[in-house]
Formats: sequence, C-alpha cells, structure tokens
Amino acid sequence: MACLRDNFRQALVFLMIKSIFSSALLALAILGTIPTLLSCGEADKTKPTVNVQGKTMGTFYSIQVPGAFQGGAQMLKQTAEHEFEQITSVISGFDENSEISKVNASTDNTVELSEYLGALMAACRHYSEQLGGAMDITVGPLVRLWGFGADPKGQHAPRQDQIAQASSQVGLDKYEINRAEQGAYALRRASAEVQFDLATVGEGLGADAVAAQLDARGVENYLVSVAGASRSKGVNAKGQPWKIGIEDPTTPEHKVFVAVCPLGKAMSTAGSYRNFFKDPDSDRIYSHIIDPFSGYPVQHQTVSVTVIAPTALQTDALDTGLLVMGADKALSFAEQNDLAVYVIEMVDGKPQARYSSAFKPYLDCSTEQP
Ligand code: ADP
Ligand code: MG
Repeated sequence: MACLRDNFRQALVFLMIKSIFSSALLALAILGTIPTLLSCGEADKTKPTVNVQGKTMGTFYSIQVPGAFQGGAQMLKQTAEHEFEQITSVISGFDENSEISKVNASTDNTVELSEYLGALMAACRHYSEQLGGAMDITVGPLVRLWGFGADPKGQHAPRQDQIAQASSQVGLDKYEINRAEQGAYALRRASAEVQFDLATVGEGLGADAVAAQLDARGVENYLVSVAGASRSKGVNAKGQPWKIGIEDPTTPEHKVFVAVCPLGKAMSTAGSYRNFFKDPDSDRIYSHIIDPFSGYPVQHQTVSVTVIAPTALQTDALDTGLLVMGADKALSFAEQNDLAVYVIEMVDGKPQARYSSAFKPYLDCSTEQP
C-alpha cells in the first residue's frame, strides 16, 4: 500500500487512539510505531514538526506544530497538560474532588458555581435548548445506571423501574443557571438528585483550550486532537491543509471512511459503535450515548455524527445530541441552522453517509484520499 500522506496518517492515528489504547502495553507498542508512520515517504519536503502525545480524560491527545515551538516539545506538553488539568479539576466525573463532583455530592438545591463552570454549564444548556434536549447534561443518573459512569456496573440492561426512576431526574426543566448581579453563577436544581455529566464536552474543551494557548503564542499552524475532537489552523508540515479522517464505524480496524479538511474550524465525531456492551440475556447492544427522553441508549441505525463549527465545545456538545436525534432530524436541524454535519447510518448492514449543504466544502480534499 502506498504511504498515506504524513499529516493525514498522524491525524488518523490520534483520532483513533482513544479506542486503540485499551492497555498500557498496547499503548507503548503503538506509540513505538508512530515515529515509523511519521517518517513515511517524502520526508525531504517536510518541515520538522514538534509532536506531542499523551493521555488525558481517560483518552489520548496529540498535538502537531510544524516548524518550531518556543521551549520545544517539553514546553508544548507542559502547556497542554496544564490546560487539561485545569479542565478535569472542574468537569471530571471520575475525580471526586472536581468541582462538578462536589456539586453532584452536595445536598443543596442551590449551588454557587465558579466562573468557568457557570459559563460552561450555561453554554451546554444553550446547546441543549437548541437541540430540544437531545443532549442534556442532567443525563448523569442514566449514564451511571447503564454502567458508563465512574462506577461501572455489570453488562446487563437495568430494569424498567430503575430507568424510570433515573429518568425522573433528567431534563431541561430540572435546573437553571443564573448569573447574579455581582457576577457569580448559581445553579438551581429541582432536587439534589439531579446530577450533572459533562463528559460529552470534555474532549472539545481540551482541544479549544490548547488551541487558545497556541493562538496566544502566535502559532500559525497546528493540529490538536483530543480523542474525537480536534482544532486545527493553517497548514501541515508540507504546507497543505490539515486532513482528518472520519472513522469507518463497521470495523474495529480503525479504517478511514472519509477524509475531511476542517479548514481552520473545530471538528468532532460522536459515535455509538465503540463504547458499548452486549446484554447476554437479550443479545442487544447498548452504547454510551443515551437518549434522555427514552432513558435508553440510542437504538437507531445512525451510528456516527460529525460536526464542524468554530469551537470544539460547540461541535462536541452538538454531535452527541444530533446522534441521539438520528440522521433525518440531525440533517434537518443542520439545514435549518446552516451547520456542517456528516452522518453515517447502517443500511442493510452497510455504512451510508449523508451530509448537510454546509459540510460540502470540507469534503473537497477527499479526492486526495489514499
Ligand atoms: P464519544 O465517545 O462518541 O466521543 P463523548 O465522549 O463526547 O462521545 O460523550 C459520551 C459521554 O457523554 C457518555 O459517556 C456520557 O457520559 C455522556 N452522554 C451520553 N448521552 C448523553 C446525552 N444524551 N447528553 C449529554 N451527555 C450524554
Ligand atoms: Mg460529544
């Protein structure tokens, strides 16, 4: 097989990295292959690139800066990881000392929020409202019940009465975010059993935060990927637009379904095809993307939704909700809102793609697909 273009291959490697690295051993093995991938073909025309990879939020990130970065790879890694730590100290559901964990553990219905968390929850609420509640950060009790939270349960679907009980705490009508005159944000919830899960925007927040740091340092060209969320700017080491792969949802081999050039925008993909379990009693498959209205993981044939928009917070908030809505509703939402959306559905066992008008310009680079 001909060599993949360097940047394309790197982007794919890192977008797929989240599910590839299921064990530390495998991680080491694959990290060991990355330099080989990077050195593939046409190296003479390629600018040197500062490359950094690591782990955050239970997944993997990568950053590429063609040319120089002041302080080198070590400074780049330190800068990025500082940002990730700041974010996880607020939003991690796996760290009992994070701000959101303390909010969830509190027995109060009204809780004062930090500036960062208040603004974030207000933004999430805004996207939830836009999507009619298909993405909803109060989905926490259902995420826990289905075993995708900090305390994983067995591999069996919960009982209907448990689902009904958890669902009774879920919904946009269960909380408000208000900003008092002196500027502090306050959360008011229907009861202390209303629990928040910000996992769906974590990767996007991470990509945005690193991009902001690079922008502030005047870096003109970069690609930042935190699992399925990315921010890119300028061009790659060969002076070409950054190219990122949307994964083929039908194979565990991390094949590219289509190549996309996000042209300086953020891009993220939500998928129901990697993180799931199969209930041995029913043989049904349940993924980690939960429909807040039914209380069940999504069951329809739409398996992947990619969004391109100015920020990765926006793409990461919207992709999950659009996946819950399914292809038809997601695409009509995209047309109404002039949003770039690409969906993959399983039709007769085969993946089929559809996309909104606003997505078309980003597919122009697909012709260069290997
Ligand atoms: P992906 O793994 O496809 O990138 P994300 O990690 O962005 O997806 O988001 C998945 C997580 O979001 C789930 O593990 C769960 O914690 C949370 N979640 C699931 N369904 C919803 C929903 N409808 N609205 C908000 N958050 C959700
Ligand atoms: Mg998301």
